[in-house]
Amino acid sequence: MILDPTDDGYRRRMIGKLQKKLPIVTEDPVELSSRVIDAGVHDEQVNRVTQTLSVLDDDLSIVESFSNIVSFRTDEGLVCFDSSGQITAGRTMEAVRGWTDDPIHTLIYTHGHVDHVGGSGAMAADAADRGHEPIRVVGHHCVADRFRRYELTNGYNTDINMRQFGGVGGVKDMALGDVPQFLPDDVLWPDLEVGSSHTLSVGGREFETRHAKGETDDHLWTWVPHDKALCVGDLVTWVFPNCGNPQKVQRYPLEWAQALREMMTYEAEWLLPAHGLVVRGADRVSTVLCDLAAALELLTEETLAMMNAGESLDAIIHQVTVPDDLLVKPWMQPVYDEPEFVVRNLWRLYGGWWDKNPAHLKPAPETVFAAEMAALAGGADVLTSRATELAAAGDLRLACQVVELAVQADPESTTAHGARAEIYQQRRNEEFSLMSKGIFAAVARESRAIVDQ
Ligand SMILES: [Zn+2]
Repeated sequence: MILDPTDDGYRRRMIGKLQKKLPIVTEDPVELSSRVIDAGVHDEQVNRVTQTLSVLDDDLSIVESFSNIVSFRTDEGLVCFDSSGQITAGRTMEAVRGWTDDPIHTLIYTHGHVDHVGGSGAMAADAADRGHEPIRVVGHHCVADRFRRYELTNGYNTDINMRQFGGVGGVKDMALGDVPQFLPDDVLWPDLEVGSSHTLSVGGREFETRHAKGETDDHLWTWVPHDKALCVGDLVTWVFPNCGNPQKVQRYPLEWAQALREMMTYEAEWLLPAHGLVVRGADRVSTVLCDLAAALELLTEETLAMMNAGESLDAIIHQVTVPDDLLVKPWMQPVYDEPEFVVRNLWRLYGGWWDKNPAHLKPAPETVFAAEMAALAGGADVLTSRATELAAAGDLRLACQVVELAVQADPESTTAHGARAEIYQQRRNEEFSLMSKGIFAAVARESRAIVDQ
């Protein structure tokens, strides 16, 4: 079943299901995930930023934060997966120290995103305060390339994170957008850089790391045979895969799915993700991994089939999506990223930047085109009125396109900007992904500021 995301019925069903504000009731993340997966009941938050540590097994714990810290206690000290972000590092470190005073022997980065590495400075400071040995930091060799890229694109990345995370309530705990420097100065760089696979032995436990492209080019997922545990970073996040992000660098849907399929062969008892709930039990682990892989495979296959058949990007984004019975599952919901953006990302990965509309190859400046359309319509005010009508009728895709022409044709018009602010606010309210909400809310703020001047 292929559903058009512009179809009203689809949108109403999805919005109804996804916009409910859910509580946090069950403390134990394993009890909660087992119930959610077994019964398909989704009555509590599954991505919890509680900064609370749960002991999962004698020597295994997780701190649920933005992102999680997974810790294994070994005879030589702790092996931690990720350090959470800089702003939450005080509370996540306190949570770990509430569990054990053991030194952190090794910190494994599942990848180099700032919400995973930003707390490493606080871990290093904790080690120094306690007189422990310096922490060994392990990461794929592309992590350092990423850190260097962050230095090159500091302004861009700070700006897009403000927009990405600025359109939803309760983002203060994520604390990503308001740091002046995108990559904090005190972040630890990997001192052991690994490649496609590498086995570490720490205090009687083996940690078998595997490189995979997916959300990033620098992901490491790790099999811990002693505990039959998979530490998977952002390859599992209890939301639809962050594999299309409109403001960020290339993602890899097919390679991501292949990594998930490889994980399934281990029949793990523990699935330890960097966001969202721990999963316990081989069947439940398999269910989650399989659904994620299936969605990414479906988008890849259908997008490639249409690309190979000579279709345009426009045709593909309005036709290829994921069935909504898969999207409404609690570990699959498009509340962060969404399938339409994955399709665009696939086009970028396998094709060129040209979308096959010949007018887009070497267009006139947008303001010149908008002025021409406004002149044909009878003025920017006519476009503004029409955009407002379209929005009132619920066609927000078209309303946004028309109101953009109005403000581009007459950038000083407070009437056009007033309508634009309202249309994008309405659109923000009706979208379900954080990424769409963030961008649309930023545009509404921009136009409101012009009106208020
Ligand atoms: Zn993450």
